[in-house]
Amino acid sequence: MRLTVLVDNNSNIAHFLCAEPALSFCIEDGYRKILFDCGYSDAFIKNAYQLGIDLSDVTDIVLSHGHVDHTGGLARLQSLYMKISRVGFPICVKRVTAHPNIMKPLEDDGLANKNIPKLCDLFELSLTAYPRYITDNILFLGEIPVKDKTRYRHRDDSSLAYVSKEGLVLISGCSHSGLINIAEYAKKVTNENRIAAIIGGIYIGNNHENDIKAIGEYLQKEKVQNIYPCHCCDLETKLLLSKYVPVKDVYSGLSITF
Ligand SMILES: [Zn+2]
Ligand SMILES: [Zn+2]
Repeated sequence: MRLTVLVDNNSNIAHFLCAEPALSFCIEDGYRKILFDCGYSDAFIKNAYQLGIDLSDVTDIVLSHGHVDHTGGLARLQSLYMKISRVGFPICVKRVTAHPNIMKPLEDDGLANKNIPKLCDLFELSLTAYPRYITDNILFLGEIPVKDKTRYRHRDDSSLAYVSKEGLVLISGCSHSGLINIAEYAKKVTNENRIAAIIGGIYIGNNHENDIKAIGEYLQKEKVQNIYPCHCCDLETKLLLSKYVPVKDVYSGLSITF
């Protein structure tokens, strides 16, 4: 499986690509090409073009949750696909996978995107609160059981788990459900107890130092080989986590093979 960061908060001098406070990954696994989140603007489309990644043959879109920094770019993707189909090419996207609550934000924290139903009308919807395989080895986790509901409230938040030979690779948007909850649920539903790597946003909020410590200790206990915290994960959190596990840099254009 190859994961390429189409857009992230961070850019890198070697690539000269756009950055924005948003997230979008392209995940290629066998014959499937999954767009995981769509960023905020058309930056992910411009970056994909620069990277030579063709978005016209994306087979699946997966939305981690409804926040506009993960779904705002859907409008630009819709325009791109309408242009492609107008000149006679078929659109390859088979379906959009997400948690059902993404269609009706339960709380408006200023980041909710109420246009998602309209933006998805070109595609078949695959809404599920239960785990569902996207490819033979990539599982959409559906609703993540959350123990402390006072802290984690985004009920449309989910993640992907890739079952590699070395263990699980967890791919998250913002980890609003809590990173430990996501990891424990992924282990349970895949029957794979090893976590090889984690890539994605790790949102802690208001620098809860105890939360970061608990996550760090958990990752160390689980012997996670590498983590790639990005997007909503601030430098302080990355520095604290690096005391427990190896922390890798993430930026628009980064490509990793798992
Ligand atoms: Zn979010
Ligand atoms: Zn976010």
